[in-house]
Amino acid sequence: MITPFKITSAANPMVKALKALHTKKGRAESGLFLAEGARLAAEAAELGVWPQVMALSAAALERPQVARLAEGAAHAGARVLEMNEALLAAIAKRDNPQTVIGAYPQRLVELETLGARTTASASGAAGMDEVVHAPLFVALDGVRDPGNLGTILRTADSVGADGVILVGQTCDPFSVEAVRATMGSIFALPVARADFAAFDAWRRARGLLLVGASLKGAHPHDAFPADAPLAIFMGNEQSGLSAEMEAACDALVRIPMKGRADSLNLAIATGVMLYDAWRRRGYAGARE
Ligand code: SAM
Repeated sequence: MITPFKITSAANPMVKALKALHTKKGRAESGLFLAEGARLAAEAAELGVWPQVMALSAAALERPQVARLAEGAAHAGARVLEMNEALLAAIAKRDNPQTVIGAYPQRLVELETLGARTTASASGAAGMDEVVHAPLFVALDGVRDPGNLGTILRTADSVGADGVILVGQTCDPFSVEAVRATMGSIFALPVARADFAAFDAWRRARGLLLVGASLKGAHPHDAFPADAPLAIFMGNEQSGLSAEMEAACDALVRIPMKGRADSLNLAIATGVMLYDAWRRRGYAGARE
């Protein structure tokens, strides 16, 4: 049983440091990001990821699962801080905050290290019966909205994609809003950053078919072989893919539209592209 350090004042430097993780500057200076909730902390722990700081309420600590998490975090070197709900609300900047909040190290991977993730098969326990699949990556050009980015990370994780590449200037995947929208997938899915030239060279070297989703696509959204090694390329919310990017694609495809809307929301369009490709792969590796 650990004895957490008790904090009672909003003026405590640890509270200030955790609050600062809402800002780009605070995250850049510390290299940390906030993840809220015991469920996220448990998912991270399962992947062997521990926070540097874990803030929790006394009531949360009474739950055996949270006590085990706090124990594990302390064992991994985290500072475990007990505070009341008002201080947790100040850190989360919302009423009714989660009663466990962690500050985790930001982790982006190098493009070169991206490879196939192994997935347990529907029948097997984790680590058994690994499903072999053609690689499936998602590349996002200049995504601006953190809610879209987080939702896309969650969706890419849901279809077992092997990673997400953030191309060009994008919003921060470690902002509080993006992390909330990932619902924990931020810990599971490798994310890399690259400029377009480096990304295009990498995907050519890996033999990935580059499939651009665009309103200018001349072909339907399923007009490419789903079983090929794939990089699905999605455009920016305002301007879509640039002409140079579209020209580099092996296939430029359009999701059919019928009503008055001229385009789909970026995260929805990514979901359509990914789920259709996975459907055509027979939902390989889907859990029961
Ligand atoms: N005005 C932008 C344009 O002209 O491309 C709209 C961008 S849309 C909101 C954001 C991204 O979602 C697009 O770049 C594309 O990748 C994808 N997208 C949205 N609707 C789509 C559709 N019907 N077909 C293919 N891609 C679509």
